[in-house]
This record gives sequence, C-alpha cells and structure tokens, in this order.
Amino acid sequence: MTYEKLLQELEPYGARLCAVSKRRPPEQIKHLYRAGQRIFGENRPQELRDKRPLLPEDIQWHLIGHLQSNKIKYVVGKTELIHSIDSFKLLREVDKRAAREEVIQDCLLQVHIARETAKFGFHEGELLDMLQSPDFHALSHVRIRGLMGMATFTDDRELIRREFSGLRQMMERLKENFFSSEEHFRELSMGMSGDYRIALDEGSTIVRIGSLLFEGLD
Ligand SMILES: *Cc1c(COP(=O)(O)O)cnc(C)c1O
Repeated sequence: MTYEKLLQELEPYGARLCAVSKRRPPEQIKHLYRAGQRIFGENRPQELRDKRPLLPEDIQWHLIGHLQSNKIKYVVGKTELIHSIDSFKLLREVDKRAAREEVIQDCLLQVHIARETAKFGFHEGELLDMLQSPDFHALSHVRIRGLMGMATFTDDRELIRREFSGLRQMMERLKENFFSSEEHFRELSMGMSGDYRIALDEGSTIVRIGSLLFEGLD
C-alpha cells in the first residue's frame, strides 16, 4: 500500500495516521517524512531515545508500546502522545516526571479489549475506580486525551469489530461520566495494518500502521 493511498482511505473518516516505525531505519522514516508524514510511533522507549536525535525535529513522536517506570525519562516531554498508560501507578509517575520537566504530557489510557491475556491495559472496572479517585484528580501534569486498544490477533472479523465497537462505547460512557467538559478527551487509538478498516468503521481517530506502510520500502 502506498502512503498516498492510505491517506486517501483515512481522509473521509478524519482519522490521523501514526506511522509505526519500530525496527525501521532512519532512512525509511525520512522517506515518509519527505512525503509529508509527521506522526511516527515507536513501541520501545530506548529505540525512541536513540532515533529521535537522528531525525527532523518537527516529527511528532508517539509511544505506543508498554512503558516501564525506569524508562519514563526517555519519553516524558519528548513525545506528543503516550498511547500506552496501563496503570494508575504509571500515570502517577509520568505526572511526577512531567511536573519536574515543567510540561503537560498528553496520554491515552490503554484498555484491555482482546481475548489474549498477554496484552496490557486497564479493565473497565479499574478505569472507573481510577477516574473516581481523589488521587487521580490530584494529578496536574498529564492530560488524558482518550483511549487506546488492541484487538485480538485473529481472522475472526466479527470478534475484532465487537472489540473495537466495545471500546468506542466505553469511550462514550467515560466521556459522559468523567470528561463531559473536557474538549480534548476525544481520541480513540485503534487499528493496525491488519484491522484498521474495521477500526475506522468503528470510530477510530488514530490508526497505528507499520508493516503495511513500510514493507514496500524494504
Ligand atoms: C507494531 C505495532 C503496531 C503496528 O503494527 P502493524 O501490524 O505493523 O501495522 C500498532 N500498535 C502497536 C502497539 C504495535 O506494537
């Protein structure tokens, strides 16, 4: 799939493309950059730390993979968006680091929607507990922009659709109950190379696409 074709597909949905550049060399990233792409996603904080200085400064980096506390320093204040906040403990540490760096860090809450237990993320009950807690409301340097989810890795399109649709409905409930006055709570990061069309149909605002985009560049 060419970059231009993919953009054309996203256009009617108003969705943004996060080009997933993990394990891709800087030359391939520059190629897409020259074609106009500005949002790139990495799943490992160290890789992001190492690549960032080699590439144009106006790239908007997104962290899409699991973040451990000891890697927070590579990410906070250096990424436009962290997609993978999967515990309150992590969110609190990101907040602490952001306060130290005097930045407001944009974050998504990752929700566990897949059948596989290996995937990270909150369950809805945990999210509700967190969003109601005074400790959450005391955070001052993180801004929750929305939710992220990864569907089950399967050929069962209907299962994937139900998982994405469930995430969108959860987003609507949270919006109504906790973020009704917060304009910036509106992002739904879902959809990868294999399932982005379903995700778009179900209301994705950011698709995270790697192999489909980069494979032609090898
Ligand atoms: C690798 C990765 C993607 C992109 O996967 P592709 O199938 O290559 O498009 C999206 N999201 C996350 C969290 C990833 O780790």
